[in-house]
Amino acid sequence: MNPNIAQKLARPAIIALKPYSSAREEFTGNEGIFMDANESPYNKPWNRYPDPFQQNLRQRIAEMKGVRKDNIILGNGSDETIDMLFRTFCEPGQDKVLSIIPTYGMYKVSADINGVGYETVLLNDDFSLPVDAILEKADERTKMLFLCSPNNPTGNRFADEDMKRVLENFPGLVVVDEAYVDFSTGGSWVKALDKYPNLVVLQTLSKAWGLAAIRLGMAFASEAIISLMMKVKPPYNVNTLSQQKALKALVEPEATLRRVAEINNERERLRTEMASLPFVKEVLPSDSNFFLLRVDDADALYNSLTTKGVIVRNRSREPLCEGCLRISVGTPAQNNYLLDCLRNINSEEERPAASWNALADWLVYPGRTAIRERKTKETEIRIELNLEGNGKADINTGLGFYDHMLEQIARHSGCDLTIQVNGDLEVDEHHTLEDTAIALGEAFNEALGNKMGIERYGFALPMDDCAAMVLLDFGGRPELVWKAKFKREKIGELPTEMFEHFFKSFAIGARANLYIKAKGKNEHHKIEAIFKALARAIRMAIKREEGADFLPSTKGML
Ligand code: PMP
Repeated sequence: MNPNIAQKLARPAIIALKPYSSAREEFTGNEGIFMDANESPYNKPWNRYPDPFQQNLRQRIAEMKGVRKDNIILGNGSDETIDMLFRTFCEPGQDKVLSIIPTYGMYKVSADINGVGYETVLLNDDFSLPVDAILEKADERTKMLFLCSPNNPTGNRFADEDMKRVLENFPGLVVVDEAYVDFSTGGSWVKALDKYPNLVVLQTLSKAWGLAAIRLGMAFASEAIISLMMKVKPPYNVNTLSQQKALKALVEPEATLRRVAEINNERERLRTEMASLPFVKEVLPSDSNFFLLRVDDADALYNSLTTKGVIVRNRSREPLCEGCLRISVGTPAQNNYLLDCLRNINSEEERPAASWNALADWLVYPGRTAIRERKTKETEIRIELNLEGNGKADINTGLGFYDHMLEQIARHSGCDLTIQVNGDLEVDEHHTLEDTAIALGEAFNEALGNKMGIERYGFALPMDDCAAMVLLDFGGRPELVWKAKFKREKIGELPTEMFEHFFKSFAIGARANLYIKAKGKNEHHKIEAIFKALARAIRMAIKREEGADFLPSTKGML
């Protein structure tokens, strides 16, 4: 293979191009009073342009992939790297590229946008690569071949021997799009870059890394290919936020690796379960985070899943994919929901569309909501709690002052809370107060679920004219230390001796440690301050960083 293939294939205009030189290229130091890029001096650090060559990020990627930094170019999604390849190598109106069918749709769109011919070769019936047909179709104007492996939408990875034959014999660049490679056991072609000067590998953070929103795509190739693409790339194509977020993810890859393993397990579970459904003809194997499901009537199944709130991709009009829906693997709970829908596909049950997003969130983070029902001879209680709420409260215990206190918990913790109690108030307040507190604590415990990624601790101090201190730990052990004295016998209809009892019952239900101390003259304010401080402490302790999946405990359990 010609080592100068990059120069041979590239558009003459790009070889001759003197690329734009940005201020950050002309002065590369990072100290000084920067008055060279017409940026605003204010609003640090966002006033400054991003690093045009993403040095830190590319360095990290180079270490991870075992290549040199000069073998990497980054794009605003791998879609941008696809476009850069066209603009670097294909002369509009003259050149053409080759790809397979069915495959990812952007190769053709990018070709059309760039005025480049696009030819395809149909995959074999078993979705394997038709190597001879590909090689036969190429001629001197065929600049690139796009091979998506694992392929979208078929899900399979192409055999190494077939890929080698193509790499060794195809006259142009062979672009291997490995968007889904992290789900495959077969490894990446990045390792073969030194061997094949015509190889370009594309990868992305949009799939396994869960970062589709930041648009970070990678292309790996020889230095000769990358340096030509660098000339074409818009100067600041990857923004600072994306560079930072990507670097953070790549420095801490553990969560991604765990999720990939879970998604692969779930894919196989879904495939096995679906294979036994009566209307399923075939569940195709996959090396990706999706798979094809071949059924009797794909349109009908697609529509009925939509009415149940599950959106999959109807690929039944693609060649070789007749009757196929493409299903992306979800969380275990989402997958269970999908399986449940498929098993009961003929039931008429429809849910109001407004609840779909809530359902979707619940399926990703089950446990952030709880419904608690408690029925004894003395009380009947129903509590609905949503930790991701807006502080909405609808509370009716039959005790006005108690309602007022419980409302503080919702308002100041940011949780939505509905409490309906029908208690034996004709006896006294004791049962209503105690049982509600236990049920409320239990609702928090349930809503915290496996407690993955929560802050766990909370504390709050000054309130009103009183000093109220509530220290809270959702650590699994119920305990109350109570340091508050009340001189009045009752506030509203509540006996003040019951306050300590409330917090004790709550701590038991929530399996929480509570340390409560309050001082102040006004008795009403004092107890209200304690409830508000509890709510603020709850607000801190239940907080969960999006996507965090570590347990805040050195013991490994809470
Ligand atoms: N390649 C393939 C095969 C894809 O399926 C996709 C997106 N569906 C992409 C590339 C685009 O990736 P990115 O988000 O990095 O632009």
